[in-house]
Amino acid sequence: MVSLDSLAHDLAQSGTIAAFSGAGISSESGIPTYRGAGGLWTKYDPNLYANINHFNRDPSYYWNFFKDVRYPILKKAKPNRAHFALAELESMGKLKSVITQNIDGLHQEAGSSRVIELHGNTRVMVCTDCFHEYSIDEAYVFLEKEIPPLCPDCRGILRPDVIFFGETLKPQVLDDAYREAGSCDFLIVVGSSLVVTPAADIPVMAKRGGAKLAILNIDPTPLDDIADYVISEPAGDILSEILDLVKKS
Ligand code: NAD
Ligand code: ZN
Repeated sequence: MVSLDSLAHDLAQSGTIAAFSGAGISSESGIPTYRGAGGLWTKYDPNLYANINHFNRDPSYYWNFFKDVRYPILKKAKPNRAHFALAELESMGKLKSVITQNIDGLHQEAGSSRVIELHGNTRVMVCTDCFHEYSIDEAYVFLEKEIPPLCPDCRGILRPDVIFFGETLKPQVLDDAYREAGSCDFLIVVGSSLVVTPAADIPVMAKRGGAKLAILNIDPTPLDDIADYVISEPAGDILSEILDLVKKS
């Protein structure tokens, strides 16, 4: 077990801290991760439910999945101690930004104000024709009438404002993420298996820029070897402890 005191000391000494989160930070909020035991993709084939070519061929797969699985989970999910700890580090003036692979909006709900969402946000629904945006609750009302749900303005098909498999990340968002990672003094990675690129490049960018790197993930990751700290305990416990120690130092 690495010394949390030394990690907290390094954080307290760092001018600019950034965080990079993945699905694991939201698992204690009741949102399943994608990979690993109990992961969503062990039950639902991403080629059918999260692939843009399949969505364009038949959007009803995604929308039935959203109605029966995604929506009930999102409606119940609240930010947990890990999200709140990062928001508090920001309010203390320590944390500059959160880069996230998550699409659940829980960082913002916890109070983080600078959140770079690499894969978009599934609480925002967009008309594929007129680009009008709707909330998930509005979309749910539409899809109770018909699947796929249609835009009441132009009858275009709605889609979530997320990056599907088969789509590329928005260059501006990726640039922002790389800039934050490459210029911070300390990057805290929380709850990511670090196997999806280009997102998995973010910790490498941080190290190249001279930052210290902590990986907080219950399973090993391919980047553990380059990290200064690797802690394999649940994110909520560990970030609460780290926050307390930073406050004391
Ligand atoms: P992932 O599922 O590949 O990896 C999650 C990691 O979190 C695993 O390595 C697991 O060991 C770890 N983990 C699980 N519970 C943890 C806990 N309590 N504390 C610490 N670590 C924990 O997720 P990923 O790396 O984010 O990549 C998957 C992709 O799936 C991303 O592209 C993301 O957009 C998407 N996704 C998003 C959500 C969400 O928005 N909440 C949920 C699932 C997947
Ligand atoms: Zn429309």
